[in-house]
Amino acid sequence: MQPQETFALPEALTERLRTAYPEFFPEILEGYRARRPVTLRVNTGKTTAAQVTEALALCGIGVRPAQWYEDALIVTGEVRERAIEELPLYRRGEIYLQSLSSMLPPVLLRPGAGENILDMTAAPGGKTTQLYALSGGKALITACERDTGRFERLRFNLDRQGAARVNALHADALTLDDALKFDKILLDAPCTGTGTISLGGRIRFSEEYLARCVRLQQKLIGKALRLLRRGGVLLYSTCSVLPEENDAIASCACRQGARQLPVELPAEIPRLHSAPSAACVCPGPLYEGFYLAMFTI
Ligand code: SAM
Repeated sequence: MQPQETFALPEALTERLRTAYPEFFPEILEGYRARRPVTLRVNTGKTTAAQVTEALALCGIGVRPAQWYEDALIVTGEVRERAIEELPLYRRGEIYLQSLSSMLPPVLLRPGAGENILDMTAAPGGKTTQLYALSGGKALITACERDTGRFERLRFNLDRQGAARVNALHADALTLDDALKFDKILLDAPCTGTGTISLGGRIRFSEEYLARCVRLQQKLIGKALRLLRRGGVLLYSTCSVLPEENDAIASCACRQGARQLPVELPAEIPRLHSAPSAACVCPGPLYEGFYLAMFTI
């Protein structure tokens, strides 16, 4: 059965959110109503935050940096994505439109030169290209994507962003050979997207959809642990706020022998409660709802 599409918050989701976060429920609803500013990431492989700020100012677009990440710029005023997409610096891949929350996983994973990194479910490639830029183009990144259309989009973005040394793999990550071992793995898992809901927009949710996502997340995290080298780091993230897709999947990893590492977020980022070592960002005026957990074996 296809997930139900509606413009209002479906009853089943309301109940789940109320139960999971009784005290934060009104704040989550406020977050769903918020009209967040456009945010973008500077592609440091091609330019600098100062140059982008100056170029945007010449087009009458103001920006301010996020305090915790100098490559993240928050557009001030009423400018929307469309206007940014028409700019030459966007077409040249000098910037990438990306939510602040979704910039967190690569920052926490700290990709280094020479590290062998797997981005397990990579399209459209926002985090792959960020990992590449953060490593100065010096990490050995494999970006895996199963869906054909989304894989094409990934390839297009890698090309546009100049991430030439990324190995793009059109494959189901569940079929990768366990003999491959990676120093770091990003599993930005497919999920219900309940962190990114916008009231007034279409909302896609059903119990069956949630159960399907959870089953896939369980399989993917098990596979990620088998592909991780001993002492390596796995970062699991979703743009969901539902504990079933988050802490419950982290527990599933721990039952398979993974040890959780603490996720430390900048103090200014609003949080929902989660297991002590993980982090769940609360949807709000600046941030989408988002979950992060880190492991080693
Ligand atoms: N990390 C991406 C980014 O920042 O641009 C977003 C990833 S999105 C949340 C999840 C992706 O996982 C989707 O593109 C989906 O097609 C892909 N996917 C789902 N199951 C997969 C599998 N078994 N193997 C590889 N990719 C998979």
